Amino acid sequence: MRILVTGGAGFIGSHLCKKLVENGDDVICLDNLFTGSKQNIDPLLDYHNFEFVRHDVTKEYLAEVDQIYNLACPASPPHYQYNPVKTMKTSVMGAINMLGLAKRVKARVLQASTSEVYGNPLVHPQKEDYWGNVNPIGIRSCYDEGKRAAETLFFDYHRQNHVDIKVIRIFNTYGPNMNPNDGRVVSNFIMQALRGEDITIFGEGTQTRSFCYVDDLVEGMYRMMNSREGFTGPVNLGNPGEFTMLELAQKVIDLTGSSSKLVHKPLPQDDPTQRKPVIELAKKELDWEPTIPLEEGLKKTIEYFKGTL
Ligand code: NAD
Ligand code: UDP
Repeated sequence: MRILVTGGAGFIGSHLCKKLVENGDDVICLDNLFTGSKQNIDPLLDYHNFEFVRHDVTKEYLAEVDQIYNLACPASPPHYQYNPVKTMKTSVMGAINMLGLAKRVKARVLQASTSEVYGNPLVHPQKEDYWGNVNPIGIRSCYDEGKRAAETLFFDYHRQNHVDIKVIRIFNTYGPNMNPNDGRVVSNFIMQALRGEDITIFGEGTQTRSFCYVDDLVEGMYRMMNSREGFTGPVNLGNPGEFTMLELAQKVIDLTGSSSKLVHKPLPQDDPTQRKPVIELAKKELDWEPTIPLEEGLKKTIEYFKGTL
């Protein structure tokens, strides 16, 4: 199979590329290296069935492929807020370009959407039929609304042009190859703990997230891409284990044996207070559920970050 992975040099994309290359597929990894890195894909460059293309998804790209995984988009709040106009362009124009390509070459195309489409959810836990509670004009909107518009485009190309689409909504995912400086909570806490710096809890630390280890996520993503024809999703992919940021910080301190202290910083605007996926649809359609508990995943991630110091 010839497979295009946009955002393939990023955190999740690099794990996906590895899986596909090891399966023997012909993989094109397309990335502009905004938040991704060549280091993430360095071990793949020796494979004859792996190819890296430096390209921006806001510009058209043409290749004869059978499947497209569309992951290109910065995912951490500081990075997607750095150039919010570009973030929106990446989601919307990237979706249009990849859907146009899929239409032209009759490829199946999967969109990496996000739990952010639920915004600050008033329904808990979140099921796919919940429409969300999203601020259209806040500092998170470039990402949330960009991803919502991308979902709309996917379903319109499907209805209007019969493009074969798959949409997954990814909940907070963590693991090796995360950029240590990208500002997300797992990487921040681990790096702070390993350096003996204060651990920065935003707000009271009572807000919750559900953390999925990257290997579990990539398996779900792969199963969705290869799921039965006509099953478009959207489907939630995440680990239903729900933790407060205070609980996460304590786990990181225990697992690293760090003497770091907790300090409170202001809560960023529109920070969702709770997040937990219902994954019944993924269980039924994909026979998928996460297998790696938070502590086990954190241990592997801590080992990775130790190596980056
Ligand atoms: P990441 O920032 O590590 O990876 C994103 C990749 O996209 C990077 O390699 C970056 O260089 C590339 N990219 C950004 N803009 C681009 C552009 N205009 N053209 C080409 N490449 C571009 O983030 P990630 O965590 O690996 O996320 C991958 C995808 O999964 C993103 O679409 C993200 O929105 C989605 N997602 C991730 C999470 C999570 O918790 N990690 C949760 C929900 C959704
Ligand atoms: N957070 C925190 N300290 C940090 C970074 C993040 O307390 O150093 C909090 C943040 O306010 C949010 C949660 O951790 O409530 C998850 O943040 P992240 O940026 O990882 O992802 P998202 O908010 O997009 O789910």
